[in-house]
Amino acid sequence: MKCKELLNNLYFYITGEIDENIKSEIKNHIENCAECRETVSAFSKTLNLIDNNKTAVPAKNWNYFNEKLFDRIYASKPYRLLKPAVVAFSLLLFIFVFEYRQFNTVQPSTAMTSYEAEELAYLTDFDIPELQQ
Ligand SMILES: [Zn+2]
Repeated sequence: MKCKELLNNLYFYITGEIDENIKSEIKNHIENCAECRETVSAFSKTLNLIDNNKTAVPAKNWNYFNEKLFDRIYASKPYRLLKPAVVAFSLLLFIFVFEYRQFNTVQPSTAMTSYEAEELAYLTDFDIPELQQ
């Protein structure tokens, strides 16, 4: 048996849910392979620790705790959408304001003479409110 094969069967070897032939192969292997011996020992210690410290669920307040926990999880969901919504709204507002300003800027019309157009450009540079109506 190779080390990799042993690792694949490690859990079942330790819990005893394993074919007798594979079990004896593993025993032979760990007699000769220090690395796998160490792995088997560490893994079985870990499993024992877990088995001996099974977390007891408090019988009295468990349902209440459970309910509160799920309330919190579901209550937090709407707020997760708040941030992208604010970003999207700001972007739309920015675009709207930008377009609105462009629309309201006085553009020289084609009917104007070049002198009138020049004068208009000069005057709008001063941002005279009457011209922008
Ligand atoms: Zn090995």
